Amino acid sequence: MRGMPLKKRLKLLLELQTCDNQITGILRKKAEAPLRVKGLRGDLEEIDRQNKEAQDKLEAIKKERRGFESEVQELVGRIEKSSIKLSNVKSNKEYAAALKEIEDLKAMQFSLEDKILKYMEDTENLEKDLQSRKKKRQEAAAEAEKMTIAVQEEMKELDRQLEALRQQRPHLLESVEKSLLKTYSLLMERKGGQAVAAVVRGVCQACHIGLPPQDFNNLLKGDAILTCPHCNRLIYWGEDQEFQAETKGDNGMLE
Ligand SMILES: [Zn+2]
Repeated sequence: MRGMPLKKRLKLLLELQTCDNQITGILRKKAEAPLRVKGLRGDLEEIDRQNKEAQDKLEAIKKERRGFESEVQELVGRIEKSSIKLSNVKSNKEYAAALKEIEDLKAMQFSLEDKILKYMEDTENLEKDLQSRKKKRQEAAAEAEKMTIAVQEEMKELDRQLEALRQQRPHLLESVEKSLLKTYSLLMERKGGQAVAAVVRGVCQACHIGLPPQDFNNLLKGDAILTCPHCNRLIYWGEDQEFQAETKGDNGMLE
């Protein structure tokens, strides 16, 4: 393998880096996708909580209204009794007192009836509100369901891609020479998953520091696989037309 042309060796190394980057990307997506469903499920729970609150409020108002209604009934009974009393009074004083009693009871009745009217209006509004809440809940549930299915499909597709890459990877590992592979693995561990970097206009695209002219000249000569003197990553000349042509189509170039 040592006899292999430098550009071919670099190309295989880049393919390995691309494969590993894709695996990392897929694993990240696989971790993130279920969170979208989880978020929607959380929204749904919040809607349920609010709807329950609205439902409870409606029930409370209805209950209170029934209480007022029975109070009115009771008042009507008392007014009837007082009216009978009124027709049986013997003196003016008694008459005035009975009349006053009826007036007071009627005032209480009217005040309660006003409250009942207000509560009827409130009930109607709350019922309308609750209906629109239930509709929104249905829509949110449908959305969550749709998202769940979409994420399940996405996960299946990601698994397919992952499986293909995992099958490809051993072949790439075999094709890269052992010593280079060791450097690559160490760099992958220590350099945040980027072991190989392009040098463009004399600047390493990983650490963004310019190469000293001598190193850059050596890189252009292409006698050996070099490392960036600043970040130690394995480097290749990113503007090499010939190399680009060779790696084109297999997505071997790094960003
Ligand atoms: Zn660098």
